[in-house]
Amino acid sequence: MKFNTKVIHGGQENIDPAYNAVMPPIYQTTTFKQKSHGAHQDFEYARSGNPTRAALEKAYASIENGTYGISFGSGLAAIDAVLKLLMPGDEVISTSDLYGGSYRLFDKVFKNFGIKFHFVDMNDASVISNHINDRTKLVWIETPTNPMMNIIDILAVAKITKKHNLLLAVDNTFATPYLQNPLDMGADIVMHSATKYLGGHSDVVQGCLVINDEELAKKLYFIQNASGAVPGPQDCFLVLRGIKTLHVRMQRHCENGKAVAQFLREHPKVDKVYWPGFTDHPNHAIAKSQMRDYGGMVSFTTKASTMDSAINVIENLKVFTLAESLGGVESLAGHPATMTHASIPKVDREQSGIVDALIRLSVGIEDIEDLLADLNQALGN
Ligand SMILES: *Cc1c(COP(=O)(O)O)cnc(C)c1O
Repeated sequence: MKFNTKVIHGGQENIDPAYNAVMPPIYQTTTFKQKSHGAHQDFEYARSGNPTRAALEKAYASIENGTYGISFGSGLAAIDAVLKLLMPGDEVISTSDLYGGSYRLFDKVFKNFGIKFHFVDMNDASVISNHINDRTKLVWIETPTNPMMNIIDILAVAKITKKHNLLLAVDNTFATPYLQNPLDMGADIVMHSATKYLGGHSDVVQGCLVINDEELAKKLYFIQNASGAVPGPQDCFLVLRGIKTLHVRMQRHCENGKAVAQFLREHPKVDKVYWPGFTDHPNHAIAKSQMRDYGGMVSFTTKASTMDSAINVIENLKVFTLAESLGGVESLAGHPATMTHASIPKVDREQSGIVDALIRLSVGIEDIEDLLADLNQALGN
């Protein structure tokens, strides 16, 4: 099955054995009657499993070319489950411009349980080797990174993790499986904040993991049930519905993202524009080889290069909404230094390029002329 067919039909055979409904019913129930003592019919208690959730988990696995899909109440709950595979003393290598919430979970929660994190600039993947020792267990990456749009060479990282027998997890939230499939490139775990492009309509918070290895999947299913950060059936239904249009939405996100990036680059009030589709992006060649297009996320700095100038622009936008988050059909604008990345210390933030004048755009699927006109008026030209 090709991708555009998978988003609609992947894992969805025989979704409603009772009445052959085309969409899975929302099983709003906490428990399932046993035919006789101990005789369950597939499901017993809704933390452990629910038919609506099971339908979505099969869809997750299908679109990421994986075998097992596991859903969670949020993207961070999915990351939390992966970290619970570790033991005190274990070490993790991650990227220096990580999603702010992932950084906070690593640095403020799991560090207290004796897990050590190395945050390294992975623009050159070979630097990872310098941080590996016999306590290293996991490499956690994001590509494109948030919000600097750096590109990490997944094949090169996977080569290193395979050699040292480490787990490789890829946060594929920004790219989505429409643009890249990390499992096919040697990753062990793909993670998504389904809150973003997979849900796609800014109306549900959810996360997932997709895995090929059976043993690893079993451990993660165990954690899903044992820790209990599961999504409800209504939310599962919404994400499943969102996934069915992922390909058409992403196609437009990419077209509009490209137009916005090119427009900003020519604009006299704009200094730098970060978008992996530019041929002079430092890792454009890697982006070109591992992604099918460049996505709808664009970051830029104003020439005035002050916090006020950036905040002024985002406050003047009218079609773009000033809000956290990304990946919905509507365009959003944010200020990473005070919003998504406020939990990262200023020195560390600025070292990764997240300066006060940086603005991050999640380019939606509105008419491109309205988006460009809006940016133009907000920049004051
Ligand atoms: C939003 C996001 C997360 C966290 O997901 P939630 O659903 O908000 O918990 C993790 N990684 C990336 C790249 C994100 O954008």
